[in-house]
Amino acid sequence: MDVYGLVGNPVGHSLSPPMHEAAYEALGIDARYVTFEPDPAAFEAAVRGADALGVCGLNVTIPFKEDALAVVEPDELARRIGAVNTIDFTGERPTGHNTDAVGAVRALREHGFDGESLDGTTAVVVGAGGAGRAVAFGLADAGASVRIANRTAARAEALADSVPGATGYGLSELPALLSDAQILVNATSVGMDEDETVVDARGLHDGLVVMDAVYTPLSTRLLRDAAAAGARTVDGAWMLLYQGVAAFERWTGKRAPVDAMNDALRTRV
Ligand code: NAP
Repeated sequence: MDVYGLVGNPVGHSLSPPMHEAAYEALGIDARYVTFEPDPAAFEAAVRGADALGVCGLNVTIPFKEDALAVVEPDELARRIGAVNTIDFTGERPTGHNTDAVGAVRALREHGFDGESLDGTTAVVVGAGGAGRAVAFGLADAGASVRIANRTAARAEALADSVPGATGYGLSELPALLSDAQILVNATSVGMDEDETVVDARGLHDGLVVMDAVYTPLSTRLLRDAAAAGARTVDGAWMLLYQGVAAFERWTGKRAPVDAMNDALRTRV
């Protein structure tokens, strides 16, 4: 039996185990996906131990995504983003990857653009933390022109300096940034477990595709405001699904059963 898992602290309510186990069941793979919650000081020992025990792959979440860069060999994208969310033990040595970036882009492409390319679009990313970094690099790599707005403007400007063609702003610039944009992504934690939004509804319009990285709740205030403004909406479970799909395909070399994974996710969010 193959073992995969998620390492973070806390990981109690993660949706990754049912999502990945639905994929194993659909494809008849003899595997389990389990959660690990090491003491932060023991993260490196935990990863080395998992490798020694024959674990095939680990997802990595808060607070270890940055720490993982120094513990495994990151690929070029994970290095640029500055965070690893997927560790692959199936090669000669453990490697680190970031599937949040491709997950966000695939969610937008398939559910906001009918599968069309994002090349040439203008995108506004709100947030410059871990999710904001991944989304900004993913969109830039997909050919979008990226504007990053963050509560701490200096953080947005610093991130914009490392993302090709990007520019950084404070939140007060949002209405102007959105007026001619085609994509808006909330990559802050605002909206999680509370009915709040970081984007004034008056800046939203029907030329936008709006995605929220927040997936608890699924219907955030931002997405409700966006729908009311006539925008297309993409909820955070799509981004979660496609980052999981990318990790599954990297680890197993098989095409992921996306519908089975999505069903497992959506019965639990
Ligand atoms: P993080 O690194 O802690 O970053 C938090 C971000 O939110 C920062 O930009 C921060 O701004 C901003 N922020 C926090 N409180 C705010 C407030 N009251 N007003 C305005 N901005 C505020 O967190 P993260 O890892 O990026 O995660 C952000 C969200 O994305 C979480 O809800 C997480 O669950 C979600 N996420 C979803 C997926 C998915 O697959 N759907 C993947 C990854 C993350 P400052 O810089 O000014 O502090």
